[in-house]
Amino acid sequence: MECEKAGGYMMKYMDGVLAEPEALWLNKHILQCEHCKEDFFLYDHIMEHFAKMPLCDAPANFEERVMARIRLLPAPAALTDSLERAFCGIWGVFFVLMALGLLLGMSKDAVIAWLSERAGLALAPLAALMASASDDVTRVSNLFLMNMSQFLTRIWQFFSGLQVILLIAMGLLILVQIVLYKKDKVDTAK
Ligand SMILES: [Zn+2]
Repeated sequence: MECEKAGGYMMKYMDGVLAEPEALWLNKHILQCEHCKEDFFLYDHIMEHFAKMPLCDAPANFEERVMARIRLLPAPAALTDSLERAFCGIWGVFFVLMALGLLLGMSKDAVIAWLSERAGLALAPLAALMASASDDVTRVSNLFLMNMSQFLTRIWQFFSGLQVILLIAMGLLILVQIVLYKKDKVDTAK
């Protein structure tokens, strides 16, 4: 607690805005606290070093040139937006095609029945062809459905596995934070 206050006063000292009673308090604390004493002399040394460094002027029109460069950069939000939109579009097309394929596969018997019923002799060869291909279509669509469900199950397993790993990682992070916080508290209390 005292060291935290001392740290704040040190920052004020570096900025040259430390009031006299604060300076007296800081002086007293530094005489008692080895940790803050070290910090203070380190900061003081750094400030001294900076003060000795030569100042140089920024080149002419520096600010305008930087701002012009920034204006030339593509807006990051717009970039992610268009990428996201493209990604959604691809997924959308994929799902519509998949749904159409499944619908056709599921209703192929009805289509064949409709063809053989109404088209009569003219379309009979086509109906026969479709009927003979029907077994193959059934096999392929069953295979597709099976693979698809296996694929989805695997994705689900992968993500639930990932969730567990993420939870463990987050738990470890929180634990490390707590340990660090406690250590810091013990250190500053010294
Ligand atoms: Zn201290």
